[in-house]
Amino acid sequence: MTAESKIDDTAGTDLATALEPGGSNAIAMSYGLLADEWSLWIIRQALRGAIHYTDWVHRGPIPGSALTSRLTSLVEGGVLTKTQYSDKPVRHHYLLTTRGRQIWPILIAMWSWEMRWVDVAGVELPRMQHTECGEFFEPVFTCTACDGEATWENLSAAAGPSGAWNRTMPTTGRRQRSRGDKRPDEMVNETMELIGNRWSMSIIGAALQGMTRFSDIQRKLAASPTVVADRLRVFGELGVLTQVPSAGRPDRHEYRLTPKGKAFLPVALLMIEWGQRWFHAPEGPALVMTHVPCGSILSSRLTCSACHEPLRGSTIETVKSGRAPSAERLL
Ligand SMILES: [Zn+2]
Ligand SMILES: [Zn+2]
Repeated sequence: MTAESKIDDTAGTDLATALEPGGSNAIAMSYGLLADEWSLWIIRQALRGAIHYTDWVHRGPIPGSALTSRLTSLVEGGVLTKTQYSDKPVRHHYLLTTRGRQIWPILIAMWSWEMRWVDVAGVELPRMQHTECGEFFEPVFTCTACDGEATWENLSAAAGPSGAWNRTMPTTGRRQRSRGDKRPDEMVNETMELIGNRWSMSIIGAALQGMTRFSDIQRKLAASPTVVADRLRVFGELGVLTQVPSAGRPDRHEYRLTPKGKAFLPVALLMIEWGQRWFHAPEGPALVMTHVPCGSILSSRLTCSACHEPLRGSTIETVKSGRAPSAERLL
């Protein structure tokens, strides 16, 4: 489908998309759309008011080809609508749909993880301040049923009826980025190492479901041993996975998520929850997460670690420290 064929197609964008039986599931749709630096940057700018093609051009170093292709995929994915508002000259604007406006918690979770866990040499990342309570905070991944924090330790995951691995792989793999490519910002560097590659996100998924052995991961994903070994090496270098000797079999190793790896859980799960809210496989969900303390199927929201109130995107500022502290609305 070309972008042009979607002109004025604003109907139905607030309804969930029905997926094909046996086809890509909600996780594949979510990661296919969002695990891309430029797409996230475009969505962030849209949340901050960009609506015309030239708005994005003026706000960052995005190459025209990247902007055009990402706008097209975001329109096709129902994140934006493209509407013609002028005949002569022909002009369009792009507006976030409800599903597009609901992406902000994913962005906040990514930035918060990067701020907390990633050292960027020479760059001091800003801190987040909640304008409603005035405090510096970290977003807390919270179960809406019981208001308790949802963590690696107190969630249980089970594959749902559309959760087969081959249905979870995003089909829209992006090319590997190369040195010297223009980049949107430094806020999602390591996040992209974890989710910007279809094998990476599958291995994260395998770790979430408790797989720890190289052979199990490799067999389950039907990936080549070289691919799996390469990703596990990268994850080791990033400090999200660590190798430990197997219990009772010291000649074998298992892979375990580190605290940094476990802290990435809200990002991965917010993306999955968003996907499952907006893309429905006829068979049912791809992943069912249960919050063990209350027994509810997980429905999450982000709350403020200082005042414990639910966060809203418009109430979060970043504050850069240093000689001239400056606050900026994040979204
Ligand atoms: Zn709960
Ligand atoms: Zn607060």
